[in-house]
Amino acid sequence: MIIAEPPETAVRHPHASLPLTALGGRTQRIALVGLLAVVIGLASLAIVSTRSASRETQKATDAASIASLYQDARFYATRALALFDQYRIDRDKTVGDAADSVVAKLQHTFELLSRIPTQATTSAGLARRATAIVAMANESDALAASGRPAAATRADQRADAAARLAIGDLSRLEADAHRDSQEGLVEIRGAATRLGYATPIVLGGVVFMALWVCLVLVRDRRRMTSLATTDPLTGLPNRLGLANLVTRTLPADTDDPGARSCALLLLDLDRFKEINDALGHEYGDDLLVEVAGRLRKATDAVGTAARIGGDEFVVVLDSAGADAAEAAATGIRSALCTPFTIDNIELSLDVSIGIAIADSRAPELHTPSALLRAADLAMYAAKEQGGGHVRYTAELGMRVSEKVTIVGQVRRAVDRDELVLHYQPQVSLDDDRLVGVEALLRWDHPVRGMIPPAEFLPAVEDHQLIDRITHVVLTKALRQSKAWQEQGMRIPISVNVATRALLNASFAKEVADLLAEYDVDASLLCIEVTETTVMRDSARCAGTLNALHDLGIRLSVDDYGTGYASMAYLKNLPLDELKIDRSFVARMTTEEQQRILTESVIELGHNLGLSVVAEGVEDADVCQALHAFGCDVVQGFLYSRPVPPEEILAWSTSGITPVPVMVPAQRAGIEDVEPAR
Ligand code: C2E
Ligand code: CA
Ligand code: CA
Repeated sequence: MIIAEPPETAVRHPHASLPLTALGGRTQRIALVGLLAVVIGLASLAIVSTRSASRETQKATDAASIASLYQDARFYATRALALFDQYRIDRDKTVGDAADSVVAKLQHTFELLSRIPTQATTSAGLARRATAIVAMANESDALAASGRPAAATRADQRADAAARLAIGDLSRLEADAHRDSQEGLVEIRGAATRLGYATPIVLGGVVFMALWVCLVLVRDRRRMTSLATTDPLTGLPNRLGLANLVTRTLPADTDDPGARSCALLLLDLDRFKEINDALGHEYGDDLLVEVAGRLRKATDAVGTAARIGGDEFVVVLDSAGADAAEAAATGIRSALCTPFTIDNIELSLDVSIGIAIADSRAPELHTPSALLRAADLAMYAAKEQGGGHVRYTAELGMRVSEKVTIVGQVRRAVDRDELVLHYQPQVSLDDDRLVGVEALLRWDHPVRGMIPPAEFLPAVEDHQLIDRITHVVLTKALRQSKAWQEQGMRIPISVNVATRALLNASFAKEVADLLAEYDVDASLLCIEVTETTVMRDSARCAGTLNALHDLGIRLSVDDYGTGYASMAYLKNLPLDELKIDRSFVARMTTEEQQRILTESVIELGHNLGLSVVAEGVEDADVCQALHAFGCDVVQGFLYSRPVPPEEILAWSTSGITPVPVMVPAQRAGIEDVEPAR
C-alpha cells in the first residue's frame, strides 16, 4: 500500500540533494580552474605583446634621436669644413672663430652621442678624429704663419681629406640610425597590430569561458534534476518527478466549477510479485520496461505516465473529467492485459487502477499528496474487487481508510500475540466419536473481548499480513496438537488457510518445517481451502495443494455449495474432504430443495472418494437427516461451539452422544462470541 508522500518529503529524495551539490561543486571547480588558466594565458600574451611594443618603441625612439644627432654632427662637420675652406683663403680670424665654435658644437654633439650606450665607442672615435682634423688645420695655420705655404697647403689637404672622410662616415651612420628608426617603427606597428588582436582575443576568451562555465553548470543542474526525477529502469518520471508534474498540472482555481480538472490514475500490477519471485528480477525488470513502454504508448496523447515504486505506476491526465479518466483506465487495462512475451515466456498481468479527480467538487484533493492518497485508496478498492478500475469518492475513501486502520490494529494484535485459537469438535456420525477439531481464530482484544474473525480477517485477506496470521495459526495449532499428544490424545486439527497462502510457492515448505518443528504427524493436519479459492485460482493453487498432499496432509474444500464448483473439476485435485456449507445444512429439514441438494452433494462427494462433513449442525433433526443420507462427520452448535483447547480434552473424554438441542445454549457461556453468519 502506497500512500503519497508530501512534496517536502519527496524533495528530500536521496538523489535530489546529496549528489547534486557534490557533482555540481566539482564541475564548478573544474570550470573555474579552466577559466582561470585561459584568462592567465591570454593576459600573459597581452602583457608580452605590450612589453615588446614598448621595447620596440624605446628602440625606435633611440634610433630616431641617434639619427638626429648624426644629422646634427654631419651638419656641423660640413659647416666647419666650409668655414675652414673660407678661412684658408685669407685666414680671417672671425671666420676662424666661427669654425672653432662650430667644431665645439660638433664635439658637444659627439658627447651627447657618447651618452647613448650603443654609440659610445663610435662617437668617441669620431670625436678623436675631429680633434685630429682640427689639429691638422691648426698645423696648417701655423705653417702658413711661419711662411711655409706649400707645407700649409699639404696639411690643409690632409685635413680636408680626413674631414670629407669623416663627413662620409657621419652620413652613413646617420642613414643607419635612420634605417633603424624606420625598422623600429615597423616593429612598433607590428606589436600594435598584435596587441590589437590580442586584446579582443583576451576579452573574447573571458566571455567564452564565462559562457561555457554557465552552460556547464546549467547542463549539470539539468542532468542532476533529471536524474533525481527519472526512474532509471523505465525512463519514466519517478515519485519526485510525479510530485513536480502533479503540482504543475493541478488546477489553480478550486472554487470555479468551470475550471479544468486533473485526473490521477494509480496502477498496481496484479501478479507482478509472483512473476518476479518465480522467474527472477531480470524478468521482472524486463517486464516493467515492457509495461512502461505500453503505458507510454497508451497514454502519450492524453497525459504522462510515471513509475513510483516496484510495480506501481501513475498516469496524470491534464484537463480530464471522470469519463475521460475512466476511458483512459479502460484503454490502459486492455493495453496491459495483452500477454507479454519475454525470452519466449508468455506472461499475463492484470492491473488494478484507482482514479482520483481534482476538480471543483473535490476541494480536498487539491494537493499532490491528497490526490495520490485518494487514488491509492481507490486502487485498494479496485484490488479488493479483484481488478479493474475504481473511482475515488469521499464515501469510498472513508470505508477503505477504516479498513486500512483495521490492518494496522490487527498487525499490532499479531505483534502482541493477542490472536488465539478456539477449537470446534467434529463428530463421526457412524460411531459418535470425536474425529477432529477445526481451529477457529479469535482476537482476544484487551478492551473489546473476543472478536470473531469475520470482524477483522476480511480487512487483511489481500494483505501480506494474512501470511503472518496463517503462520501464527498453524504454529499455534501444531503446538496444541503436540500438547494434546503429550497428554495422550491424537486429535486431528483442521486449519483454515486464505487464498494467498496457496499462491505462495513456499507455503508447503513452511508447513513441512512447522510439522517437523513440533513433531506432529502430517496426517493429523487438515488444511481447509474455500471452494471459492479453489475455483478462482485453481491452476495456481494446484501446485501447492499437490505439495501439501504429498506431505501427507489432508485437504478439505470448505463452504462447499457456495461457489458452484464442478465436481469434474474437483476430481483433478488431491482432495480428501468436502465440507457442506452451513447455509444448506441449516435449511435442509425445512426446504425440500436444500434437502435434495445436500443429499446429492453427499452422494457426489462419496463418488469422488471424499469424506463429507456437514457444518453448522444445530439441531438433532438435521443431524438425523444427515446420518440418513450417509454424511460422515458433523460439526455444529448441536455438539459444541468452538471452545478453548482445555475444554476439548474434557469434551473428548466425556464420551460423545449427540447432545440435545438445549445443551449448546447452556454451553453458550463458554464462548461469548457469536459466529458472524
Ligand atoms: P468457517 O471455516 O466456515 O468456520 C465455521 C464457522 O461457523 C465458525 O465461525 C463457527 O463458529 C461457525 N459455526 C460452527 N458451528 C455453527 C453452528 O452450528 N451454527 C452457526 N450459525 N455457526 C456455526 P467463526 O469462528 O466466526 O469463523 C468464521 C470464518 O472465519 C470461518 O468460517 C473461516 O472462514 C474464517 N476463519 C476462522 N478462523 C480462521 C483462520 O484461522 N484462518 C482463516 N484464514 N480463516 C479463518
Ligand atoms: Ca473452515
Ligand atoms: Ca465453512
